[in-house]
Amino acid sequence: MKSAWIPQSKLPNVGTTIFTVIGQLAEEHHALNLSQGAPNFACDPKLVEAASRAMRAGHNQYSPMSGVVALREALAIKTEKLYGAKYDPGTEVTVVASASEGLYASISALVHPGDEVIYFEPSFDSYAPIVQLQGATPVAIKLSSETFQIDWDEVAAKITPKTRMILINTPHNPSGSAFTAHDIERLTALTRDTQIIVLSDEVYEHVVFDGALHHSMARHPQLAERSVIVSSFGKSYHVTGWRVGFCLAPAELTAEIRKVHQFMTFSADTPMQIAFAEALGDESSYLGLGPFYQRKRDLLAKALAGSRFELLPSAGSFFMLARFGAFSEESDSDFVLRLIREARVATIPLSAFYTDGTDNRVIRLSFAKDDDTLLEGARRLCSI
Ligand code: GLN
Repeated sequence: MKSAWIPQSKLPNVGTTIFTVIGQLAEEHHALNLSQGAPNFACDPKLVEAASRAMRAGHNQYSPMSGVVALREALAIKTEKLYGAKYDPGTEVTVVASASEGLYASISALVHPGDEVIYFEPSFDSYAPIVQLQGATPVAIKLSSETFQIDWDEVAAKITPKTRMILINTPHNPSGSAFTAHDIERLTALTRDTQIIVLSDEVYEHVVFDGALHHSMARHPQLAERSVIVSSFGKSYHVTGWRVGFCLAPAELTAEIRKVHQFMTFSADTPMQIAFAEALGDESSYLGLGPFYQRKRDLLAKALAGSRFELLPSAGSFFMLARFGAFSEESDSDFVLRLIREARVATIPLSAFYTDGTDNRVIRLSFAKDDDTLLEGARRLCSI
């Protein structure tokens, strides 16, 4: 149908998200999908049983706006046990319909027109558009193209009186890098005595490798008092389609976030929340996730050892980067298209995570896949 009028776009430079574009191409070409950070294997059947049981028991109406009480309580207990911070389930824990909603609600609630939000590229693709939609300015700082670490001197130089928020993500999508004690020290010093809010995307909080510590903002009291932590059950329980996430933040920040959340989705899916409350009672349900994905990371890396790619280290998340510049002059987008068509394996070009399209001839591989897919994907990548 033809539109009666053509609206002025609020996001003129944004197209369809890369995950959808590549997913469709992968389907068309019957390619193996190592692109999206979503498991292709089943979750624990007990989780499905718990959600089904909740449905059968009639828990099919709206949950409380801020989330099922038992789930908020379980989250508060888990956060204190793991990170030592006390969040009041009544006023400081909010269940949202996906981490994506949590990010949107937090930015929308706390960032005003004219504010600046510092974030780091390559970055997950929703950050900058959400900031723009508030009439605020996203200020991108590039991570080192070698180590994907933050240059804190550059952050110091880019902070202005208009800086309202610094948006971080650890473990990091798409690079697999993770915060160290040094990052925490610098972030703490730079935000001390300012009105800067830290929005911390920690959806991969349990996917940390090699025995390292996840540096949640909740571990560091001086950061926790100015932070909104956004995390997700989808990544931790292999159910990205269930769309349940949560926000942890001091009461004054939470009150503002809830004002937006109540008008975005009002509440998240009730039966799923009940199932997650039950699952959180068993700490092995999330504590085993690091070793689980580390094995997959290592399986993929080993299977690619004979390939022409240069693999970059991954300290956490579902992702590993691979350089191909040593054997191809193609842009990363062209290269990814060729991989889909010729090798029939789908990956994501790293340039998709830069607003200026920076292309260092790198692709992102997701190892959140069953072992057969990883091994077959690697075999196909070795043919290139
Ligand atoms: N977070 C996942 C990724 O980076 C999927 C995001 C999405 O499909 N919207 O691949």
